[in-house]
Amino acid sequence: MTARIPEEYQVKIGLEIHVALATETKMFCSCSTAFGDPPNTNVCPVCLGVPGSLPVLNRRAVELGMICGLALDCEVNPQMHFERKNYHYPDLAKGYQISQLVAPLAEGGHFTFGVSESQERTVRIRRVHLEEDAGKLLHGHRQQTLVDFNRCGVPLAEIVTEPDLHSASETRAFLEELRALLRAVGASEVRMEEGELRCDTNVNVLDQSTDGPKDGTEITELKNLNSFRGVEHALLWEIKRHVEALQRGDTLTHETRHWDEDAGVTISARAKEEAHDYRYFPEPDLPAVSLDPGWVDRLGEEMSETPRQRRRRLQQQYGVDDYTAGVLVSEDDLGDFFEEAVSSGGDPGEVANWLMSEVQGYLNAEEIALHELSVTPQQLVAMLQLVDSGKISGKMAKELWPRMAETGKDPDQLAQEMGLQQISDEEQLQGVIRQVLQEHPDAVSDYLAGKDRVVGFLMGQVMQKTQGQATPQLANEKLREALTEAKEGKGEED
Ligand SMILES: [Zn+2]
Repeated sequence: MTARIPEEYQVKIGLEIHVALATETKMFCSCSTAFGDPPNTNVCPVCLGVPGSLPVLNRRAVELGMICGLALDCEVNPQMHFERKNYHYPDLAKGYQISQLVAPLAEGGHFTFGVSESQERTVRIRRVHLEEDAGKLLHGHRQQTLVDFNRCGVPLAEIVTEPDLHSASETRAFLEELRALLRAVGASEVRMEEGELRCDTNVNVLDQSTDGPKDGTEITELKNLNSFRGVEHALLWEIKRHVEALQRGDTLTHETRHWDEDAGVTISARAKEEAHDYRYFPEPDLPAVSLDPGWVDRLGEEMSETPRQRRRRLQQQYGVDDYTAGVLVSEDDLGDFFEEAVSSGGDPGEVANWLMSEVQGYLNAEEIALHELSVTPQQLVAMLQLVDSGKISGKMAKELWPRMAETGKDPDQLAQEMGLQQISDEEQLQGVIRQVLQEHPDAVSDYLAGKDRVVGFLMGQVMQKTQGQATPQLANEKLREALTEAKEGKGEED
């Protein structure tokens, strides 16, 4: 489904992204953040909000939140404090969520992303604040709904962007690179399947050809999208809805909608709530927190390379092109594999080619991740060296690779086991060629009569006789030598 958007219309998309920070324990208590434990086993009076219990701020959560902010070029505020965001929902035992409204952790940054330098775009980051997650409702058990509070109090960073994104595909690209960034700097593992990145999108469409009050649609918010594909599809659908509304002169209503994945439509949920609906007030149980500038500076200095920095470095250091660098950086272990292979003697161009074609092809076909392979970067390099030295052909390498990936065996040993070996021995090849010429006297006569294209046929016979193991270039050379000799021999006879 694609939305055709008239040129005078501008799509505006802003995001609120919730990311689970990579802490061992929760934001305000020492309960574990482990995913998948039996329901309601990682809970205590603090995260359940039992009256009289007191929250204690997790230092590591603050640190990881600051790393998030710094990675997004935000200013970390010298002092932050928490508010209570009050709402009633069965997954929220306390009846409020501890969040930040007035003095967030960090503000005013930007994030530049794009698969390549020529396609880079920058989105302004309004703020990064800390908050705690809510629990999870489990529907459908004997037509009952159960609640698991294990996730209550898991530390989240909420990243809020300005409405600087302009299409569904661009939003997806932004989120994919944001995920790579957060993983690279260690702020979050961003395991999508565990709901570690969830996204609310705000979207509306402006008609730039008119002025005045009816110049665009009201913002709708799509809540809690937890896959990149979901975000993209929901936005495509919603943008189309907005464009069609504008075309019939409608401005829609300011509302929250849900994406129904199965039906492929968004559904109105409720009128969009405003900040005052939550009756925010300062959290009385937590003091304001001063963030030591020395601490902030140190985190900035120690921060790992961002994907964008790494993309630039890979281009400069190894001479790979813009696009290749983008792909290598898109998954951090792909970049690591590449750099390790090159440092063990691999040619950067060759290694990159293999990673982008055969290796990724294999991973996609098997639906596994690179780290699940038992092949080491050194083994890949050893295989490429077999090709370079002429021991196996490029075609044989493509046969060898999937077996290496399956078994984790050394390429040398495996090539022997599979009988993959190029015949580069001149005498052996000459013997085969003599045999072929003897077996096909008609073809030789045709050649002598000037039909050059029988060379292809004879070459095919040579390859068949050697079960494809002749070094093609050498075999071709020797075949032509033999035919030239035959011609000269014939000349002498005449
Ligand atoms: Zn707890």
